[in-house]
Amino acid sequence: MIVEVFASGPAETNSVLVCTDSSPQAVLFDAPLHCVTHWQSRLKQLGKTVGTLLITHSHWDHIADAAAAKKAWNMPVGIHKEDVGNLEKPGSDGLPLWFPIEGIGADFYVVNGEEKRICDLKVCVMHTPGHTSGCVCYYLPDLKVVISGDTLFQGSIGNLSFATARPKLMEASLKTLLNLPADTVVMPGHGDATTIGKEQGIIKRFFYD
Ligand SMILES: [Zn+2]
Ligand SMILES: [Zn+2]
Repeated sequence: MIVEVFASGPAETNSVLVCTDSSPQAVLFDAPLHCVTHWQSRLKQLGKTVGTLLITHSHWDHIADAAAAKKAWNMPVGIHKEDVGNLEKPGSDGLPLWFPIEGIGADFYVVNGEEKRICDLKVCVMHTPGHTSGCVCYYLPDLKVVISGDTLFQGSIGNLSFATARPKLMEASLKTLLNLPADTVVMPGHGDATTIGKEQGIIKRFFYD
């Protein structure tokens, strides 16, 4: 099993590559700027390719290389329906773009509660609106890992001040996430990994202190 993180782009955004031993194809989570050249050379060493790109949410720092990924691997791209607009037309969410970003369409929508087998990897989709309305976390039960995007970080939560944020929905989303087993490793969109157990106090700190 391969689970690797690479931080890139102006916001040091994490992309996560996960590949089972049984599949020649990896799943890539998010596509920040310059991640494609990194993963291309890494996958060459591993003798693998990317079979699917799953996006946690459509903020520019998570989708900047989505078009480059499509060109490199021609793989299907999945995202929550409520976040597809900014993937198709980057900048349409009103956040300023630091550089031009090419839009692409989604190949499928991920839906809350669904359990998919993608490139031989079991992926459970958790819709966690708040930071954006279409934010999702991807729970990988066989690895005890959750890819949390910008919903939950080590000791922090996603920015709720953007016009497209849904602050009122964040607390319920975090509660759902914190219901995962305590030893689940959280791999966030920025910064270091943490665990669900270590972040149990996060709601109180951000909503009630
Ligand atoms: Zn974000
Ligand atoms: Zn981000």
